[in-house]
Formats: sequence, C-alpha cells, structure tokens
Amino acid sequence: MNILMVAAPGAGKGTQASRLAERYGVEHLASGDLLRHELALGSAIGRAAASYVERGDLVPDELVMRLVLDRAVTAAGRGGYVLDGFPRTRQQAEEAYAMTGQQEHLTLDAVVHLEVAHDELRRRMLARASAGDRIDDRHAVIDHRLDVYDRQTQPLLEYYRDRGLLVCVDGERPVDEVTQLLFDALDGVRSGG
Ligand code: ADP
Repeated sequence: MNILMVAAPGAGKGTQASRLAERYGVEHLASGDLLRHELALGSAIGRAAASYVERGDLVPDELVMRLVLDRAVTAAGRGGYVLDGFPRTRQQAEEAYAMTGQQEHLTLDAVVHLEVAHDELRRRMLARASAGDRIDDRHAVIDHRLDVYDRQTQPLLEYYRDRGLLVCVDGERPVDEVTQLLFDALDGVRSGG
C-alpha cells in the first residue's frame, strides 16, 4: 500500500500519517522530519537546507529527492509507505516519477488530502509555536508557509484528482474522527474496492 499525504502545514499530516502507516503495516516517511534530522546532525544536506527551512521556503528539489527517493523505493519493496510532505510541487512529482520509472510496486494507491481552513491552520501552528520545538513555527514564517502551500503545493491536488487518486477528508474534525474517516476510505482501496 503506497499512500501520499498532501495537506497544508498544520493540517495534521504527521499524526494521521503515522496512524495510517501503523494500520497498513507500512513505513511512515516524512520529508520534514528527515530534513530536521539532517539539520540537527549538521550534515552537508542539513547545512544546505537550513536557511530554506528557517524562512519557510521549499528546499531545492535536488536535496529533498536525495533524502526521500531511495527510502521510498526501499519501503515500497518492503510492502509500502505513507509519504508525508513529498512531493510538494508538481515538478517534484514529475521528477520522482521520471527517476523511478514505472515500476509496478511503486504505483500509488491513494493521495490523502486533509481539508483545513487557513484560520484554523494558523491557530494550530501558533499553538505548536508556544510549545517551542520548531524553528519555522513563528508568526511571519507561518504566513509565508501557508502562501508557499497555496502557490506551490495546492496545484498538486488537481494533478492527483485528474488521476482518480485523491481522497479528501475534513481535517477540522477531532483527530480520532479524522483517523476513522481515513480508515473507512482507505480500507476499501486496500481491498481493491
Ligand atoms: P509543514 O508541512 O508543517 O510545514 P514539514 O515538516 O512537512 O512541515 O516541512 C517543514 C519544512 O521542510 C518546509 O517548510 C520546507 O522548508 C521543508 N520541506 C519539507 N518537505 C519538502 C519538500 N518536499 N520539498 C521542499 N522542501 C520541503
């Protein structure tokens, strides 16, 4: 089972992605977590990505692809993945597709989108900011990330809707309800229905 999560920052991708990964027995891969890990290590990739992440801009494709692609291919060979945060642009989707070819086991089963209004996204990110564990959860950066999402990531939804892969769920419901809605939608996909 191969699932992508495409949603705005603050929509709850990470929480839901890890629950989906557990239910379907596949690996949860989060591009943001992978990047933050490299930042914390101070690796070459981390140093190259730092200023982009701090500003709330997308890091260059080449860096993200290097972190994510091999892991996704490996996970797919082991039964699947929930990929959270990648691809984030149409170009990343197309490049990933070109680089991995059309291997059968890499075929996507579903693309999950959590719908949450901007006001609610802002509120959640500011709440997370006061918990203080992310350098990019600050006022100005939050607005910029939402803008980047609208301009660069949102168009991906259309791309996957056209391919019949998009599953949209109301991400403003309580966390457990969102999870249940996703299970209901994706259990059918898994059994081929
Ligand atoms: P959120 O979606 O809540 O903003 P993430 O943890 O997914 O958080 O991403 C944090 C940051 O990591 C992004 O603002 C961006 O700088 C970088 N990033 C993550 N995934 C990608 C990607 N696929 N392409 C480019 N940059 C990315």
